[in-house]
Amino acid sequence: MEPSSLSNRIASLPKTELHLHLEGSIQPATVCALTARHGFITTEEEVRQRYAYRDFPEFIEAFKWVTSFLREPQDYALIARDLAEHLLKQGVIYTEVTLSIGVMLLRKQRPEANFEALLCATEPFERRGLRFRWVFDAARQFGVDAAMEVVESVKRCNSKAIVAFGIGGDELSIPTKEFRPIYDCASEIGLHRLMHAGEVGGPEQIREAIELLGAERIGHGIAAINDPELMDFLAERKIPLEICPASNMKTAALALQLGLKEPTIEDHPLPKLFRHGIPIVLSTDDPAMFHTTLREEYAHAARMGLREDELARIVEMGFQHAFLPDVAKHSG
Ligand SMILES: [Zn+2]
Repeated sequence: MEPSSLSNRIASLPKTELHLHLEGSIQPATVCALTARHGFITTEEEVRQRYAYRDFPEFIEAFKWVTSFLREPQDYALIARDLAEHLLKQGVIYTEVTLSIGVMLLRKQRPEANFEALLCATEPFERRGLRFRWVFDAARQFGVDAAMEVVESVKRCNSKAIVAFGIGGDELSIPTKEFRPIYDCASEIGLHRLMHAGEVGGPEQIREAIELLGAERIGHGIAAINDPELMDFLAERKIPLEICPASNMKTAALALQLGLKEPTIEDHPLPKLFRHGIPIVLSTDDPAMFHTTLREEYAHAARMGLREDELARIVEMGFQHAFLPDVAKHSG
């Protein structure tokens, strides 16, 4: 179903998806196929019920449940193919997909085996015009040593397709500065630096991610709306915010940052941030778990009042701020 408020021109432009978690992209039918591989029979309706939450902790519970069935490399291959088909339908031609390597390590899996299966599964899609690059992600609450293990696993995978290291999870768990040595190591092996910040945390989390860790793009960062000086700083330094409107609604991060009980999508600060000169990378975060698509996120942005030329500019920014140099150049 095409979102009605989006013009054909914007809907049909080739796009990027730069803030996208593989494990949050498993559509209900594929969840059923995945659980069946491990002897657990569930229905799409039951999955949809698990994919309905009122706040961030409930979302994390659902995430833990679905990822508990990702046990073998072939499980990852299955969900990657599903995601790739979905992205092609959305007109995506380049994506940087985040992998929860921290969770794989916690479950005593070998990331290099899972990653090899992912490369094999997605390779045929490159011929169909969809290019994949990967972000290895640590969960903040698992601690500094576990994050270092994620960087070590990048070395073992030894693939140029891994373009960045990032940290997600519980933003308020461990102080940002503790991760500095980890980001230094990631940088030494040629990885770009990402961090989720200012989603449920305050603007200081964003500032610290940039100043202490050298973060090059910020995951979410909507807390910037509460700090005019930080907005100036992001605009001057041209540091993009990876904005995922449906996610912010579903996790209640938007309500928290705006201090509103029941905000609507029109309350989202995306237009203010964008018109302040901050680069915006529009994404879906966990499209299956947040019942959204990339086109729908553009329709959301249109509902927030962004004009067609502004939406086209945001599409272009997705290419400009990609970590693959020739994709960034493609944006002209
Ligand atoms: Zn995310």
